[in-house]
Amino acid sequence: MDPNEALRRIAFLLEWRGASPYRVRAFHTAADATRHLQPGPVDAAQARRLRGVGPLTAEVISQASTGAVPSYLARLQAEAGPGARAGWDLAAASTGDCHLHSDWSDGGSPLEDMAEAASALGHQWAVLTDHSPRLTIAHGLSPDRLECQLQAVAAVNSRMGPGFRLLTGIECDILDDGSLDQDEDLLGRLDIVVASVHSKLRSEPEPMTARLLAAVRNPNVDVLGHCTGRIITGRGRPRSRFDAETVFAACAEAGTAVEINCRPERRDPPDDLLVQAATAGCRFAVDTDAHAPEQLHWQSSGYARAARIGLGADRLITTWSLDRLLPTRSGSQ
Ligand SMILES: [Zn+2]
Ligand SMILES: [Zn+2]
Repeated sequence: MDPNEALRRIAFLLEWRGASPYRVRAFHTAADATRHLQPGPVDAAQARRLRGVGPLTAEVISQASTGAVPSYLARLQAEAGPGARAGWDLAAASTGDCHLHSDWSDGGSPLEDMAEAASALGHQWAVLTDHSPRLTIAHGLSPDRLECQLQAVAAVNSRMGPGFRLLTGIECDILDDGSLDQDEDLLGRLDIVVASVHSKLRSEPEPMTARLLAAVRNPNVDVLGHCTGRIITGRGRPRSRFDAETVFAACAEAGTAVEINCRPERRDPPDDLLVQAATAGCRFAVDTDAHAPEQLHWQSSGYARAARIGLGADRLITTWSLDRLLPTRSGSQ
């Protein structure tokens, strides 16, 4: 046990019992701050001098810095039961994230900052998935800009060294007829393609089903992003209606992963559809859809959801090694 792990575990356990995202975030913020600590014992007063560290997190850091299990963590663990342990083990096995944005589209940070944050979290890889051209409000990338971005990604990888790789990708709009909003040859050159619906979310079930089916069966598509489009905070947005049984069966058959989108306002798919997709034999990508580096923490909420319905790491492609994720393509850059 070290301060970083203790704080991340506490964040996970708080999330597991339904604490507010703000409370969970305080522990992730403190964990980020511990990167500046030297190994070895730290007293609470020293820890308080770290940015974003308060009285409780300082006490946790101090206790964990001696190798002990902090008393606050011990109490949360005792109250949580074995299911939480399975969730934590999945989160700890995470290798990457298939869905994040940079300031090339509607994210707030340069792609190198996103890559560095993912690497610092312990990821071996992460996929840059900026938006496709039709999402003009989000500065979707034209084919030319995407070509430029591929070079920018290669440059980041050459700087970051062998322990981490930023993968090329896109969050590609699924158009009304189920085709994709980007040149298919270009899509074929990307490491990972996430396909999502961002328009006409309130269509009748029949056209929406046909639209999703065409996308998940497209050989260039690897992940079906936030499949219902629901928003569960603020004024909210109802989930899109489609024949989930048929769509998830097609995902399972095509090997297209269903995304467990971890954004607090999405948490998509809803619980009932998550169970249905699991029963259909689908694989899943536990994705943050992060638009800023600190949002990469959200991933643990998706692993908690996966653990609650008994999914193992084998079904979660975000715990896979790069060789398994990209069997024919790894090492190609
Ligand atoms: Zn999206
Ligand atoms: Zn997104």
